[in-house]
Amino acid sequence: MSIEINKLSYTYTFGKERISALSDITLSIGDGEFVGIMGPTGCGKSTFLQILAGLLEPETGKVILDGDDINAPSYNRALLRKKVGMVFQYPEYQLFETTVEKDVAFGLRHSGLSSSEIKERVQWALEVMGFSFEKIGHCSPLSLSGGEKRRVAIAGVLATKPKYLIFDEPLAGLDAYARQDFMKLVTSLNKENMTIIMVSHNTDYLFEYASRILIFEEGHLLMDRSPEELFAEETVEEPILLPICPGGVRRVAGHLHQEGILPHGNLVKYQDLLDHLVLHLGGGEDR
Ligand code: ADP
Ligand code: MG
Repeated sequence: MSIEINKLSYTYTFGKERISALSDITLSIGDGEFVGIMGPTGCGKSTFLQILAGLLEPETGKVILDGDDINAPSYNRALLRKKVGMVFQYPEYQLFETTVEKDVAFGLRHSGLSSSEIKERVQWALEVMGFSFEKIGHCSPLSLSGGEKRRVAIAGVLATKPKYLIFDEPLAGLDAYARQDFMKLVTSLNKENMTIIMVSHNTDYLFEYASRILIFEEGHLLMDRSPEELFAEETVEEPILLPICPGGVRRVAGHLHQEGILPHGNLVKYQDLLDHLVLHLGGGEDR
């Protein structure tokens, strides 16, 4: 099924002040999509994610998850917790158990799974995140490096096997290697039909891996396109796009197109550029 968001608005009240964070957002997200969300700080991205995860209630509008209004009084909130996994920014600060195994198992306490099923899940989630359960399960989370702590924290969300996986700035504070590994991992989860919704300022990574980009501006949904459509010739002059224009790939592809080497100049993903080069510079037929 899918997520239908209909005329969503949200206002924070801060003392006497009212801050409009989201206004009139309507869109739907299909199963298996990888949706990247970007936009300047304060434009409502985190508020949007928290509403999707059921942590904030919309002021007006609805979130329909797999056919159910998640804010209807009759809605089973346990179902929402099962379906939607949310990874906050710096999730490693939320580790608190004495061992990695206990921490990853925490979200499964009320799942109804037996202890051996829980152990299996924990093992699976840690292995997906690149750990050996035998090596790390009994360690204290405090003994791990920053990057390892984050992967353990994400394993805790994965262990619940959510259908929708939501990330708020998951790349912040990771080095380039860890970012690349992380995005590859998320892509593999997405290929197994997990729907991914990710806010990130690392726009190059979103262009490379997401199938769809939402751009928010001052609480409004400004654009909703594929990475390629976003940088089609006629939209690229949009002032909001200029600071996030993917540089390298577009420039190289544009140049090769002008030289008559590539039939398309509008490429934004490294992988697409590589595929086109292999195809058009020979060797393509043999692949
Ligand atoms: P983003 O994640 O895009 O930076 P947010 O969703 O965090 O944006 O914030 C949207 C707007 O709501 C901003 O103007 C922000 O200052 C305001 N805001 C966010 N959280 C709160 C809060 N707890 N109380 C009051 N205002 C808030
Ligand atoms: Mg935010």
